[in-house]
Amino acid sequence: MRWKNRGHEYDHVYHKMNEKTGFYLFGAGDYGRQFLHIFETEIQIKGYIDNDPRKHERFINGKMCYSVDEVSLERNEGIIVTMSQIARVKAIEQLKQLGYKKNEDFFVIEEFLSVYYVYKKNMVYFSSISFLPSTVCNLNCKNCLNFNPFAKQFYVREWDELIKDVDLFFSCVDRIMLFHISGGEPMIYKHTADLAEYIAHNYGDRIDTLRTVTNGTIVPKDEVLEKLSRCNIEVTVDDYREAVPRFNGRFDELIRKFEEYKINYYINKADSWIDLAPDKTDYSDLTDDQLEMHRESCSQSWQELRSGKLYNCNYAAYATVAGIAGEQDLEEVYDLTQFGADKKKELVEFRLGYTTKGYTNFCKRCRGFTPENSEEVEPALQTGLL
Ligand code: SF4
Repeated sequence: MRWKNRGHEYDHVYHKMNEKTGFYLFGAGDYGRQFLHIFETEIQIKGYIDNDPRKHERFINGKMCYSVDEVSLERNEGIIVTMSQIARVKAIEQLKQLGYKKNEDFFVIEEFLSVYYVYKKNMVYFSSISFLPSTVCNLNCKNCLNFNPFAKQFYVREWDELIKDVDLFFSCVDRIMLFHISGGEPMIYKHTADLAEYIAHNYGDRIDTLRTVTNGTIVPKDEVLEKLSRCNIEVTVDDYREAVPRFNGRFDELIRKFEEYKINYYINKADSWIDLAPDKTDYSDLTDDQLEMHRESCSQSWQELRSGKLYNCNYAAYATVAGIAGEQDLEEVYDLTQFGADKKKELVEFRLGYTTKGYTNFCKRCRGFTPENSEEVEPALQTGLL
C-alpha cells in the first residue's frame, strides 16, 4: 500500500469499525483465541466462524462456532479474520464471494488490533513481530521462507545488538500480541534462552504471548531448558518427523525434556507449506501500480525487527539477506530511532504495510500469499547435503 495521506490512512476504517456493535471472529484457532483474550471486554464478540466442520455447533473459548454460510451479518455487524497469513487467503476470498467488503464489512486481525488501539487509546499495539537472533539452521529445507538454500551468507547477531533492538522496540511500541523469537533454528543460537529471559523480565507485562520455535531436531542443554522454564514463553515444536525421520529420537527426547521442565510447548504439524517461488518468478515487467496491487493482494502479515529498523515484509528482508532480492530498498524499512510520540499512527500504518513506494523490491520475484499462488509444497523437504 502506498502512503497518500500519512498519519490518516485509517481514519475511514476506524469510522467503519466504530459503527459496528458486534463482531464474529473468522478463525477459531490460535489467533482467534489470542484476539478474544485481548478484546472480550472491549467489543461485543458474537461467536466464531470456522471452516473446520468439527468445530461447528460447539463452544470454543466460551463462544459458539458457526460455518460461514450460517452467519448472515446485520448492517451494524462485522467480521474479523483471525487466521494465519496462509489460512486467511481462502477465508478472504470466501467473504468477498459473499459480497462482503474489506474494511467495511470485514477486517483482518492486524489492522483491527492496531487501528482500534491507536485511534481509541493513542497506543501503539502491534499484532506481532519477528525477531531473529541468527539465520543459521541445521536443516536445509527446499522451500525455507528464510531462503536459506539460496543464502550466500548467514548472520549471527551479538548480544548487545539484540538488547539494543529490544529496548528500542519497546520505547516505540506500547504493547504487542505476539513477540516471536525466530530463526534460523533458535535452539542453536547460544543466547536464545538469555534473550527470552531478558524480554520476559523487562517487557513481559507488555506482551500477550512471548513465543519461540524449534524444528524439533535439537535438544537444548539442561541449563537452557531451566532458563526457558523460568520465563513465560511458549515454544512451537514443528513436527518434521516425516520429512527428516533420522531426527525422530531427538524429537521424542525434546518433548520429554519439555515435559520434565514444564515448558509450555505446542506441536505444530503443517499439512503443507507455501512456495513463494523466487527461482520461478519474474514480475519485473509490471508497472508500479501493478506491483502495488500484487503487494496489496498478498496476505503476508509479518515484519522483522533488526538493527533498529522494521522491515515492511519479513520475507523480503530475508530474501535480501540471502542475496536474492538485490540491494536493500530504504523505502522498505522504518527507522525506529526516528520515531516520536507524534508518529504513532504513521508507525502503525507502516506496520500494516504502508510505504512510500507501496511494494518491496522482492515483490518482483515473489508469488506472495495470494489467491493465485496455490502451489502447496511438502513441509521441510530437504535439499542438498546436511
Ligand atoms: S515480498 Fe511482496 S509478495 Fe512476497 S510475501 Fe512479501 S509482500 Fe508478499
